[in-house]
Amino acid sequence: MKEKRERLSDWMQWSDPIDVRRRSALAMRNVFEMADPRFNHVTYIGASLSENPPHFVHHRLGWTEALPYSVVGAVIGRKITQEVGDEKVVAGQRSLLLSHFTGMDGFVHSPASPWSAPYPMDIWEQARTLYALIYWFGETGEERLLDYAEAMVDGLFKLSVPRGSERVFPANSFARCSMGPYGVGAIIDPLLWYYQMSGNHKALMVGIGTAEFFMDPANGFFDEQWGAKGFFRSVVACLNGFSKAAAVTGDPRILSRAKCLHDAAVSRCTAYGSTPCGEPACSDFELNGSALSLVQAGYPEYWDQIDRFIRNQTARSQFIDPNEYDSEKASKKRVNLYNIYDGYPDDLQVLPFDDYRDVVNRSVGGAMWCSPSGHSFFPASLMICCTSHVLRSFEIAWDHSLYETNTGLVSDLQFSVDNALGTIVSHEPKEGRAVFTFAKDTESLRIRIPSFADVGKVALSKNGESVPTRIERGYLVADRLSKGCAYDFTFPLAERESVEWQQLFEFPDYDHPAATGEYRVQWRGNSCVLL
Ligand SMILES: [Zn+2]
Repeated sequence: MKEKRERLSDWMQWSDPIDVRRRSALAMRNVFEMADPRFNHVTYIGASLSENPPHFVHHRLGWTEALPYSVVGAVIGRKITQEVGDEKVVAGQRSLLLSHFTGMDGFVHSPASPWSAPYPMDIWEQARTLYALIYWFGETGEERLLDYAEAMVDGLFKLSVPRGSERVFPANSFARCSMGPYGVGAIIDPLLWYYQMSGNHKALMVGIGTAEFFMDPANGFFDEQWGAKGFFRSVVACLNGFSKAAAVTGDPRILSRAKCLHDAAVSRCTAYGSTPCGEPACSDFELNGSALSLVQAGYPEYWDQIDRFIRNQTARSQFIDPNEYDSEKASKKRVNLYNIYDGYPDDLQVLPFDDYRDVVNRSVGGAMWCSPSGHSFFPASLMICCTSHVLRSFEIAWDHSLYETNTGLVSDLQFSVDNALGTIVSHEPKEGRAVFTFAKDTESLRIRIPSFADVGKVALSKNGESVPTRIERGYLVADRLSKGCAYDFTFPLAERESVEWQQLFEFPDYDHPAATGEYRVQWRGNSCVLL
């Protein structure tokens, strides 16, 4: 028991500042390691580090559900690291993705494979694929990708029936969805994103109509307060779409509903971002994306949640230290939890299509399912969806730590980043300090003051001398900063303790909690330093 405690507290004591580029490089490496060159670079869905020997796992969902995660992860990893990565994998996975548009309906369909049979079209998987097309188009600008996206939007438009302001998908779409009925709502966010980039009005109509359908209490998904039943990870994918709908339409009715449901979901997580589903890398990304839409809709206080969740859960869900794999504790037999190895007898020693080569080292950088107190070890619990969503959360940190607007440079988050505009070296949580340097002279800089910091005690200095600043709507503003100089942004790290509760659910019953855990947390600023 003592040993277990030490491992748990290590998890939360670990406190290097988060270097977004380094962390993203590790995650991208794992994305490439989990591609299988024997089968057109299809991705393994995960790594089973709960077993001895550990192995990368092939699954029926690998082709059309998991592959798009890998495509998205590679785009973000390449963008942040400025490294090309494994170009064979990138090219192979992209052509494999397009090869799954096999029907005349505009949708991707799972193929027959040595380890799986085809299954009916799944709207959750169309959402995954639409994200992949958008990310890929963002990198290369290839027009043909828009043809695929347009065809999918047409398909979704034809499949859904208008009813008042709502759009209703056929009942079998909900029954077939691999992520449960709420998984259909995952289509809202990428449809509205596609509308924003293309102006496609069918994407807007289906996106908003589907949001209206899910938000309407009469349809049984949510009541006025919350009322959601089902897998939390799928539920929060809907919420991400609702908040996007609020940001896109500016409709105050949608905004107040989206905000209320978002707050209800966050209240079901701990302040450090653990979730009832045990899959925080994925679920926290949905809540971070949702929070970003709420920021854009006029609520800047949601930056605080994004900062806390990325620091304490997104980054910590990564498998960084190969020594964490414990060959003694790992099961000598396969444990077929969640039907991860569906179809194979439990006494089969080595699965015919899985990969057993140097799996622990090749898993480094990948993201794991987590309990509120550490990594979870069960079959395929280091999962490609989680690694991809860690990269999507890191992308928020990357894009919003230092960027340019027409009024000057802005820093909403202060993670360690370096881009064409300059660099930030964060010292959190050891010190409340972030050092900014700029690639060119800068007219104006706006730094969001962390919500835990005493506004009267934040400061900017150069060579130990204070720089004149003013405070505007939660931001510290300084004018005329010189290229090449190091500017110290300092803020007191409030020390405090909190008690957190987390309801925990066990597969397959996501309606009734199996237990409630209590966790005492010590904080420095927004970082947990002891659990
Ligand atoms: Zn996941």
